[in-house]
Amino acid sequence: MSNDATTRVLTPPPAQSARRPIVGITTRLDLKEDTYYLGRQYADAVAAAGGVPLYIPLIDDREALQALGSQIDALMLGGSNSDIDPKYYGEEPHAALGAVVPARDEADLLLLKCAEDRGLPVLGICFGMQSLNVSRGGTLVQDIAAQIPGAYKHDQGIPVDRPSHAIVIEKDSLIANLAGGLAARVNSTHHQSVKEAGRNLLVTARAKDGVVEAIEDPRPDRFVLGVQWHPEWGWEREELSRRIFQAFVDAATGK
Ligand code: MN
Repeated sequence: MSNDATTRVLTPPPAQSARRPIVGITTRLDLKEDTYYLGRQYADAVAAAGGVPLYIPLIDDREALQALGSQIDALMLGGSNSDIDPKYYGEEPHAALGAVVPARDEADLLLLKCAEDRGLPVLGICFGMQSLNVSRGGTLVQDIAAQIPGAYKHDQGIPVDRPSHAIVIEKDSLIANLAGGLAARVNSTHHQSVKEAGRNLLVTARAKDGVVEAIEDPRPDRFVLGVQWHPEWGWEREELSRRIFQAFVDAATGK
């Protein structure tokens, strides 16, 4: 090995010396097809940010899920075409409640407990933001159109990646840092939303009709973020979405 200055200049440090963090991602359950599944965008976004995506089946085996929860480096909870059973926040089902998939609720809540106990980074997206909130004792609006007078249209339809409404962001928050300001436009495919934020969670963004669009854990040793929109549909061309995944995977690196 030469020790002259030229060699040192020509030898860059390894681009990724740290082990790539394993990001566990809960899937969905199609009850008709009897199939666990999840769109590819979640995995693609995590891999592009340097993480190793791992799709987690919603098996009825708590011990196995706990084993996964003890080995992953971060937890991501994606969207679902189901609603969380309102029994988890002490309510009876509103007439406009959607389908409930108990296996998804149970897997999310179990893995969120593992993540909380271990201080793992958590990114909750859409349904996943709602399960995050409920896991901390928070509550949900069961149907925005029925329960929030004057609310905007939050279920925009296709194309699903079109930014359809504005959000107003709280200053000095993680999401403000990632957005580089206090305003953004986001897509919207949800009929429920956070009502009261749970333990150690702050509301850090809202639509202009008051609907909660982001929550986060302000404890300085945590990275726990929930967004009501879908950044996995925008990370390839839009900076806020890309930065959400990058910050999440960076937080998981070295855990
Ligand atoms: Mn919305």
